Amino acid sequence: MPATSNIYPTKQLQERDAAHHIHPFTDTGALNREGSRIITGAEGVWLTDSDGNRYLDGMAGLWCTQVGHGRKEIADAVYDQMRQLDYYNTFFKTSHPPAVELADKLAQLTPPQFNRVFYTGSGSEANDTVFRMVRTYWDLMGEPKRKHIIGRWNGYHGSTLAGTSLGGMTAMHAQGDLPIPGVHHIAQPYWFGEGGDMSQEEFGLLTARELERAIEEIGPENVAAFIAEPIQGAGGVIIPPETYWPEISRIVKKFGILLVVDEVICGFGRLGTWFGSDYYGIEPDLMPIAKGLSSGYLPIGGVMVADKVANAFIEKGGEFFHGYTYSGHPACCAAALANLKIMEEEKLVERVAEDIGPYLQKSWKELGDHPLVGEARMVGLVGALELVPVKGDRSKAFTPVGDVGTLCRDISFNNGLVMRAVRDSMIISPPLVISHEEADMLVERATKTLDQTFDRLKRDGRL
Ligand code: PMP
Repeated sequence: MPATSNIYPTKQLQERDAAHHIHPFTDTGALNREGSRIITGAEGVWLTDSDGNRYLDGMAGLWCTQVGHGRKEIADAVYDQMRQLDYYNTFFKTSHPPAVELADKLAQLTPPQFNRVFYTGSGSEANDTVFRMVRTYWDLMGEPKRKHIIGRWNGYHGSTLAGTSLGGMTAMHAQGDLPIPGVHHIAQPYWFGEGGDMSQEEFGLLTARELERAIEEIGPENVAAFIAEPIQGAGGVIIPPETYWPEISRIVKKFGILLVVDEVICGFGRLGTWFGSDYYGIEPDLMPIAKGLSSGYLPIGGVMVADKVANAFIEKGGEFFHGYTYSGHPACCAAALANLKIMEEEKLVERVAEDIGPYLQKSWKELGDHPLVGEARMVGLVGALELVPVKGDRSKAFTPVGDVGTLCRDISFNNGLVMRAVRDSMIISPPLVISHEEADMLVERATKTLDQTFDRLKRDGRL
């Protein structure tokens, strides 16, 4: 594997990157001054950069590489598919074997109400599809006033216009004058940050009942759907209190609105179940998927469509004027099929539920004892550490928000561990194949990182 600086001269690549590449979610000016980190290879849970440094990929890329990096089986499946049929579309009354096979497989793996998938190239495209599908569904059902969609503050549903609108990231809304009209947001079930003196259970009910309040305010006859992630990922791995989802389910049923559960992160084994909906016992009508579907080897996403919604489109007829050039791309479907085969053969979902999940959770949660950590939480293989200035006092946060998280993330990189910072919390979501030994290394490096961050803050008089 090419990984050394003489094959990829770092400085030269950084200069060309700065000259020609605008990065996503990046202050490009600042990055260009600093120079980007150039990743040249990956194997299992390990990344290699252009200077030969190795990092434990604690984020599975961007929450996606379930089966780990460098799987030959997926590369071979894609190669074979490209030699057989490189590309053809799924418009104009055509299909092809990998699209059919993957759709069938997804119908088997997803909860029973799902028998059909609409393919997309990404999670954002999936949520744009959701947006149009939900509104069109209510038109077909003869209730065209039902156009309003409710999401949550600090939810994340992608970066396209509909995805950004449905999500509740205010900094994103501010760029591009969003959200789109007809989208509303309610409070998130973020007990650690916003729960005040309430118990987790009380807070879960309170935030769920915000949905009821919003529906009544907008007028139940105008509300089309509610969208949420089972556990908010990009918002900071926000694990809702146990009371939250049952109450949401009750409210959604009471008003007969569609429930959209965004499984882009929680899907495909992340929580130790195939889907987050299985973990929480939720019954969605639409389920956006992406990331773990192909372990990120090639871009593919989709919307799982429950029979109730699909039948409206099928029985009431008419064309759905929506689709993408790469909807059901043959090579991407082949990558997804090979990925799902590995997941099943290696029993990765069971492994997360019964073996590596509990194993890593135990030592991760012990990090909650560190003087810099206010809470250490984890479900399946997705977790967070809340960094706090005053241990035991949830009302105190670092100011300005985000500085300490960024510092800790940079220290973590220097210690050979990729953790992501969201505000001042540190996030992990490692590949589902991570071994016990690698899980121990992850926690060792995280501990060292916390110690060094703590010392640095003390030295700077911030603690
Ligand atoms: N939904 C959720 C829950 C996500 O986490 C993401 C990506 N982080 C998306 C949608 C958007 O997916 P993509 O980046 O593939 O467009």
